[in-house]
Amino acid sequence: MKLFALTNQHRISKGEATVADFQTEFDELGFDDSFICPHSPTERCGCHKPEIGLLLEAQQKHQLDLKKIVIIGDVGSTDMLAAHKVGAYKILVATGWGRRSKSDYRQTWLETEADYYAEHLLDAVNWILNKEKGAK
Ligand SMILES: [Zn+2]
Repeated sequence: MKLFALTNQHRISKGEATVADFQTEFDELGFDDSFICPHSPTERCGCHKPEIGLLLEAQQKHQLDLKKIVIIGDVGSTDMLAAHKVGAYKILVATGWGRRSKSDYRQTWLETEADYYAEHLLDAVNWILNKEKGAK
């Protein structure tokens, strides 16, 4: 199973960090590849989640079937909506912004529902592994 990072990092557009900084960090964390939107939300690019540019880039580079991937994220209005648009599985983790995405900010992503609400990343990983087992 491959692991990719897909992230909005508008601090890059302010000159506070570089794409290379993030790529190095994700490499060190053990990701197989990383896809980074460096734009500010006002630039209206095609890669700032919930737009799907980053997903399409990953799909092309790694020949992914987007209907079979699992998106794990903590923000409903970006991660879950982007996943919804391409038909991917969606896991919202309660860490980071996740708990508030599920409650205070639920109205920002009403179009869809997570396939699973995970307490944390390990919980999400176990859900995926169990799903894999069930499929065999
Ligand atoms: Zn972008």
